[in-house]
Amino acid sequence: MTDNETFDALIIGGGTVGAAAALALARTGREVALIDRKPPEEHPEDAPLDPRVVAVSPGSKRLLEALGAWRHVRPARIAAYADMQVVAGRGKVHFRATEHGLAALGRISELPELDQALWREMKKRRRISIHAPADVQNIDVEDDEITVTLADGQTLAGRMLLGADGAKSRVRAAAGIEATMHHYNQRAIVAHLATEQSNPGTAWQRFTDLGPLALLPLPEGRSSLVWSVHDDEADRLMEMGEEAFLEILTEHCVEPPFGAFTATGERHALPLIRRQSKPLAAGRIALLGDAARSVHPLAGQGLNLGLADVAALVEALDGWQSKQDPSDRLARYSRRRWSDSVLVAGGIHAINETRTLGELGKHALGAGFTAMRFARPAREIFVRRACGLDEVRKAVGILAG
Ligand SMILES: Cc1cc2nc3c(=O)[nH]c(=O)nc-3n(C[C@H](O)[C@H](O)[C@H](O)COP(=O)(O)OP(=O)(O)OC[C@H]3O[C@@H](n4cnc5c(N)ncnc54)[C@H](O)[C@@H]3O)c2cc1C
Repeated sequence: MTDNETFDALIIGGGTVGAAAALALARTGREVALIDRKPPEEHPEDAPLDPRVVAVSPGSKRLLEALGAWRHVRPARIAAYADMQVVAGRGKVHFRATEHGLAALGRISELPELDQALWREMKKRRRISIHAPADVQNIDVEDDEITVTLADGQTLAGRMLLGADGAKSRVRAAAGIEATMHHYNQRAIVAHLATEQSNPGTAWQRFTDLGPLALLPLPEGRSSLVWSVHDDEADRLMEMGEEAFLEILTEHCVEPPFGAFTATGERHALPLIRRQSKPLAAGRIALLGDAARSVHPLAGQGLNLGLADVAALVEALDGWQSKQDPSDRLARYSRRRWSDSVLVAGGIHAINETRTLGELGKHALGAGFTAMRFARPAREIFVRRACGLDEVRKAVGILAG
């Protein structure tokens, strides 16, 4: 610690983003206290595949490697995709990793697998003081430090406070930061599916009449379904039996890419809300991950944006001396990540909203995809952005020392 009492940073929230932030700061020599209501549950080797899966971009993977966490992610529990196909109406675009000099366009991983990997690495770092399970009772913002009081009476003081405490962030409220909200009136139906042919490592997406539907590769050739549909449709799809569900799924896929659907695991329905905090920092407090913004899952970017926040924070704090007020650095972080969030989240939002235009929206989207198919520079820009390698490059250099 900088002195006997004050941490460089207190982090509330030890989900994927908070744990990555703690590791990043510790690796750059900072003393950190991480607080979470509960540590992640063990994720044993023989655990059934968890429904909470995410597409990890090449940039996020590179950051997790630099943090020493990726080596704990078991290869048998991830599925890479070198192919991505997007279909809307009669329009179609196909992205291939090889065309862009990449081994994969992304990797599908279970969130509990990522969290276990990060916590395993975190527990090895003596610069990180972990407080979990712990309830935050009070957050006091003073001129020269922030004090967090836990329910057991313990107080922790930090030069800055980072809120990685998810979409309903308490840190955001403590900082007096406003968040705009948009209820999509949609829910994401998620389930693991078995198909006639194995998924060969393709991320496939179709904009169906009910909403965007993605099939993402899972280990053992299965696919993860993420189908964002209106609340009323979600109720109907959740209530129907397996056979009826697979039938309606087949109908909306039009041409299911891996042959007939043969089985589905348990279905879950998750409400979709877009949130955007503005700004992302106030004084000594900054927000990261879903506390900063939450986006529609159709582009699989929520966690990747959160990990890009971590990379931007590493850059913003490069050269910062513990005794200095970090407010200017955090303001710089906020400006950079706010404009990026708005650009990405806005783009995702606009694509999702084409559904409100019915057939016209679908054809416009399809025409856009077809145009992209014949425009290599546009595909390059899209892949570069989705892969997120540029966002983490500088931070990875700083972390490497
Ligand atoms: C259906 C669906 C599909 C998705 N697919 C993708 C994808 O393919 N790719 C992608 O990048 N993203 C995807 N996402 C988004 C991604 O899951 C989230 O953006 C990401 O998991 C958020 O991580 P986080 O660490 O910011 O927040 P969280 O995971 O919500 O973690 C917050 C942590 O804070 C703790 N906490 C909260 N409040 C307190 C408190 N008061 N005191 C102490 N601790 C507290 C919680 O216990 C938790 O551990 C998807 C989301 C959905 C819904």
